[in-house]
Amino acid sequence: MYRELGKTENSMGSVSMNEFQLIQQQFARLQLTASDVLVGIGDDAAILQCAPDTNLVISADMLVAGVHFPLDTSAEDVGYKSLAVNVSDMAAMGATPRFYTLSISLPNANEDWLQSFTKGLSVAALPFSISLIGGDTTQGPLTISIQILGSLPKNKGLLRSGAKVGDMIYVTGQLGDAGLALLHLQGELTLPKQHRDAALQRLNRPTPRVAAGIALLDYASAAIDISDGLAADLGHILAASGVGASIDAFRLPISEALRASFHQAGGWALPLSAGDDYELCFTVPEEHQAQVEQKMAECQIPCTWIGFIESREGLRCLLEDGTDITPSRRGFQHF
Ligand code: ADP
Ligand code: MG
Repeated sequence: MYRELGKTENSMGSVSMNEFQLIQQQFARLQLTASDVLVGIGDDAAILQCAPDTNLVISADMLVAGVHFPLDTSAEDVGYKSLAVNVSDMAAMGATPRFYTLSISLPNANEDWLQSFTKGLSVAALPFSISLIGGDTTQGPLTISIQILGSLPKNKGLLRSGAKVGDMIYVTGQLGDAGLALLHLQGELTLPKQHRDAALQRLNRPTPRVAAGIALLDYASAAIDISDGLAADLGHILAASGVGASIDAFRLPISEALRASFHQAGGWALPLSAGDDYELCFTVPEEHQAQVEQKMAECQIPCTWIGFIESREGLRCLLEDGTDITPSRRGFQHF
């Protein structure tokens, strides 16, 4: 049985026309005034005006309750993260995020929940002035599917396939905090109060590295955002580029919170393999090292050199004493 909101009788468990309008009103507030949105929410489709010297960049990410976020995650965090993970894909391409559509399946039209969810979306959209331009609303288990549209200057873009032997490998920010927060929520360890909020913030409110992606457009040879864990996501760059890599695991940037619970949390396995950090991993030809480090400093995004691209295929993760700690299981597997 499939039901589209507003198109069914108000039988038990369904959502009435009024509730449908309420949902629409909530979401309509996420539409910003933008001169290139010729038609936005309210018609059968949106019409966007494209600048002549840019290319359109499109990506989609779906979040299912209980799979991509714990069932008791707050509505505001769910809203924030749904958009932020999509923005992160734009960052990984070096693209500027512009618009998004929101397809949502909801069990019911709870006004408080909707208000908080909408607030989360608007907080994630604010730094980038991204506008909602349309979507679809149906009744069902909580699932959020966002499609994001962005722009790139013609002939530019950070692909996974450009890494070359000898390139330096970098990551932005710090790795493993989202995984650490998840271990805390799952009761695997208990984070002390002074680290708990910071770690949970990293899990629920990831910061998409849009400015870093744009700054890297002229310098990086490949890039990806770390959603499934560094080893898995760097693995995608290696596969797409037909190369291998060695990284110094002990160089991976980690937070105070992770340092304090390092052994309990499984040591370097966490920053190597835990997902959900939404930092960027990128490769840089050695002659661009100075420019990249300067550009990252200018946009105040920390970045750390962690290793080199090599011709020998596969990934090797080494400790200072040469111990190989390459994870065997590569990131989160959905199937
Ligand atoms: P249709 O039947 O043509 O798909 P809908 O009744 O589903 O139209 O939607 C009417 C308008 O509301 C459309 O412009 C659509 O883009 C917008 N809309 C519906 N759901 C959402 C949503 N979750 N977020 C943003 N806009 C939405
Ligand atoms: Mg529709």
